[in-house]
Order: sequence, then C-alpha cells, then structure tokens
Amino acid sequence: MQDWDVIVVGGGNAALCAALSARESARRVLVLERAPEDEAGGNSRFTAGAFRVVYGGVEDIKRIVPDLTSEEIARTDFGTYTADQFFDDMARVTQYRCDPDLTELLVRRSLDTLLWMQKKGIRFVPIYGRQAFKVDDRFKFWGGLTVESVGGGPGLVDALTRAAQKNGIEIWYSARATALIADDDGVHGLRVKREGKTLDVRAKSVVLAGGGFQANAEMRARYIGPGWELAKVRGTRFNTGDVIRMALAIGAASAGNWSGCHAVQWDRNAPEFGDLAVGDAFQKHSYPWGIMVNATGRRFVDEGADFRNYTYAKYGRVVLEQPGQFAWQIFDAKVLHLLRDEYRIKRVTKLSANTLEELVRKLDDVNADAALAEIRAYNKAVRADIPFNPNIKDGRGTTGLAVDKSNWANTIDTPPFEAYAVTCGITFTFGGLRINTDAQVISTDGDAIPGLFAAGELVGGIFYFNYPGGTGLMNGSVFGRIAGASAARAAESTHQSKRASGT
Ligand SMILES: Cc1cc2nc3c(=O)[nH]c(=O)nc-3n(C[C@H](O)[C@H](O)[C@H](O)COP(=O)(O)OP(=O)(O)OC[C@H]3O[C@@H](n4cnc5c(N)ncnc54)[C@H](O)[C@@H]3O)c2cc1C
Repeated sequence: MQDWDVIVVGGGNAALCAALSARESARRVLVLERAPEDEAGGNSRFTAGAFRVVYGGVEDIKRIVPDLTSEEIARTDFGTYTADQFFDDMARVTQYRCDPDLTELLVRRSLDTLLWMQKKGIRFVPIYGRQAFKVDDRFKFWGGLTVESVGGGPGLVDALTRAAQKNGIEIWYSARATALIADDDGVHGLRVKREGKTLDVRAKSVVLAGGGFQANAEMRARYIGPGWELAKVRGTRFNTGDVIRMALAIGAASAGNWSGCHAVQWDRNAPEFGDLAVGDAFQKHSYPWGIMVNATGRRFVDEGADFRNYTYAKYGRVVLEQPGQFAWQIFDAKVLHLLRDEYRIKRVTKLSANTLEELVRKLDDVNADAALAEIRAYNKAVRADIPFNPNIKDGRGTTGLAVDKSNWANTIDTPPFEAYAVTCGITFTFGGLRINTDAQVISTDGDAIPGLFAAGELVGGIFYFNYPGGTGLMNGSVFGRIAGASAARAAESTHQSKRASGT
C-alpha cells in the first residue's frame, strides 16, 4: 500500500489546479487519471479554453495577458466585467438558485486565480475570433468572456500537465478510482484499478475532481429524465459519475440541480462521444442570426432571446424536446459572413439552396410545406424599421408570431440559403456533491467529511437550468485551487497529530 499526502482524482482542469495548489505545501501529491494518456484531460481538453473572469479594464487584461502588444491594445475596446455583472449573470441564468457562498468565491477569486495559473505557466490570449466584433476598425468585446488559454482546451491541459510535472506531482494514467477507503474518522485513501490491476492507495486527504455523469446514458435517463439517453456527449467518455457515486456511498450529501445540465445544439450526425480531432466544433452557435425549424416545419424557440453566451447552454434541451430530437438552423446570404468557424468544418451536416422552395424540400425529415409557410410568415413579421446590429441586443424582433424572435431578426430572402442539422449535445451535468467554502465535502448529516474535498463539474449547487459561458473552467480553477490548499492543510494537520501521538 502506498502513502501520499494528497491524492487528486481526475485529470482535467479542476484536478490539475487542485494538485498544483496542494503541492505548494504538501510533499507527495498524486493525480489519478482514469483515461489513458492520449485521451487524458477530461472535458477540459475539449473546451475552447474560454474563462469568464472579472476585470476592471485593459490594465487587468494586461496582467492576464502580459505579452499583449501596444498595437492590440490600440485596436481593442476590452470594456470591463465587474463583480456585480458576474453576480448578476450567475443569478439571472440560474434563476437565483446558485449557492450564494460558492458563487461569491467563484466571482471574487476569478481574477486572482487566473493570475495564479499564469504564474504556474498557463498563458492566456484575448478571444478575438468568437467574443468580439469589429466596430469602425476596432474590436469590441461584449460579454465578459474575454480571455482563453493559448491552444484552447488541449493547450490548457498540456500547460497544466507540464506545470504538474515541473512541480514534482506524480500522474498515473489509466488509473480509475473505484472506491474511497473511509471509516468513522474520515477518508484515508482510495481503491484504484490501474492498468487492470486493483490496489489500495493511502492518502492523508483526497480531492475529488472526476467530472459529472453526462457520459453515463443510464444516469442521464435516471436523473435528467426520459429521452436524455438519446443525447450526444460533447466531451470525454470517461465522466460516468463514478466519482460522485463513490462519495455518496460513504455518506456524502448530494446538492444542486440533478435534473439539470448544460446542453447545446450539436451536429445531428456527430458521434456518440466527443472526438478530440474536432473538439468543440460540432457545436452550432450562430442561431441568433437565423431561425430554427423542427420536424413539423415550425419555429419553436426565440433564437434571439439574448446573446448566445446566455442561451446556448439551455437550447440543447429545447432541441432534445422536439420530435425526433433535431432541428434545422436556417440562414440567408445576408448573415453568412457572421457564422462562426464551426460552420466551416468538413464534418458538418449542411445543405445549400438558391430558392426557399428548394431549401425546404432538402430539409431531411421536415414537413416542407409547413416550413415554407413558416419562413414566409416569419419574414412578414420582421421589424425591418429597426436596424440590425449584432453587437447589441438590437430589439429588431418580430411581432405577432406564436414564437416571436426578440433580437437580430433578419428576413430569410436572399440566396444562397444555408441550413445546418442539429441535435442535443450534453456538455456536463449540474447535480453533484455538496461542498462548503473550503471545498470540503459535506455529509448527509451536515458535517464536513474529514479528509475529503471536491472541485469542478462534480460539485452541485453552483449551476441551475443554464450557465454563463466560460464559467465551467473558472469554477474548476477557483475551487480546484481552494480544494488543493484545504487538502494540503488537512494532510499537514493529520501529519502533526500523528507525530504528537507517536503513531
Ligand atoms: C466541447 C466542450 C466545450 C467546452 N467549452 C468550455 C469553455 O470554453 N469554457 C468553459 O469554461 N467551459 C467549457 N466547457 C465546460 C468545461 O469543459 C467543464 O466545465 C470543465 O472542463 C470541467 O472541469 P473538471 O476538471 O471538473 O472536469 P473534466 O475536465 O471533465 O475532468 C474530469 C476528469 O476525471 C477523470 N475521471 C473520471 N472518472 C474517474 C475515476 N473514476 N478515476 C479517475 N479519474 C476519473 C476523467 O478522465 C477526467 O480527466 C466545455 C465542455 C465541452 C464538452
């Protein structure tokens, strides 16, 4: 049996931040990653690396991105993203359910945590491509989502892994934690299946950062609801909820929105799980500039209800609820230049047409006559008197439709037309373990379980119903850092009490 100060379960952003933080004071830190090395990094590796962070203006951006050039500064309006705005966004999109104490930490520690990561060797850049628009030759950022890790998710995981190695943290790949070793005094280690062999590994404290249960079809149907076994998984196939279950098995309390998840519009023909060669490019997030119809040919959601950062995470569910679990996004030539890069990948379910009649005939599995009537009715309802402006919520909506569009309503009348087939892609689940502000896992009796900490996707109580883009990584980093520091402190006090008692 091996002895460690801190063992971290998981190989994504939350786990590696926890390990780096623990290693600042603990000597022997081990990371257990279930995936083999070439698939390691969890959902974090599938991301674009976008981080939602509080910043007061260009000076803070310069601290996060020290190699920002003066030319970049001159041509960019970074705006600001205040703590109040972050609180408001969290409160609004979670319908005021997000845990106030955990949200407070997420918001207030966001900038400091990003700077801490940067000191560990993680580099960030502004997200010019996806989160800014050009206005009079200057880039203007618009949503509080302003920086991403260099190299996106793969770059983030590589940089964190390099930092872990540099700091003497050991990583075991293909090492699946299967159970916690625990008694009345708390947690003392883990049972692990490493390359097919089961062994017990002792630790003074354990941090759980093994992700949610989205890659487990049975748990999806059981907790999120009927039909969810039919969703595609956007990210890693390894987040099957076993880390949550092993904590529940020793008396950890569950928390949060167990029937909720982050789910987006995702290519209808994407594979069952994420494909690292494609990353997040199966997503189709430019729907605010067009319309969507389902199998009955009808529109079913307000495509322009808000900026995509505030609707994309809940519209996957809306598509799953449509007959056949799919929809077609439709655009005309006027907005094609606004479509995000993901619309131009090779593996895309796309069609083009020169007339609306041809377009609706080509839409697989859709009632063509109804779709044509729907597009014509929509075109008539557009408030063409209000100018279209993608940088603001322009109020150019429709009036009098069963489902009105609130912003960015353009008529669909200029060929060529393009349509993209989407289904629901689940990103991560919202239900998980209850933690306190030291990232200690709380038991069903309401006490902290000695020696057990948690961070990232498997923590419940932070996200409900919806999610502001870029918060998943920030959440993993902030609480990973806290969990690692708390675990190292707990390990040290176990060590001291053992010394004092002579054991
Ligand atoms: C396509 C896509 C794009 C995204 N884009 C963004 C974005 O740009 N910005 C953002 O903030 N969020 C984004 N997200 C959400 C983000 O990925 C997650 O919120 C975040 O990565 C969660 O980090 P984590 O460390 O908790 O989990 P993960 O990164 O998923 O790590 C969990 C780890 O646990 C391991 N594991 C599981 N079970 C076990 C076990 N039994 N034993 C040992 N290890 C185990 C897994 O192999 C994995 O390495 C995106 C997600 C996807 C899928």
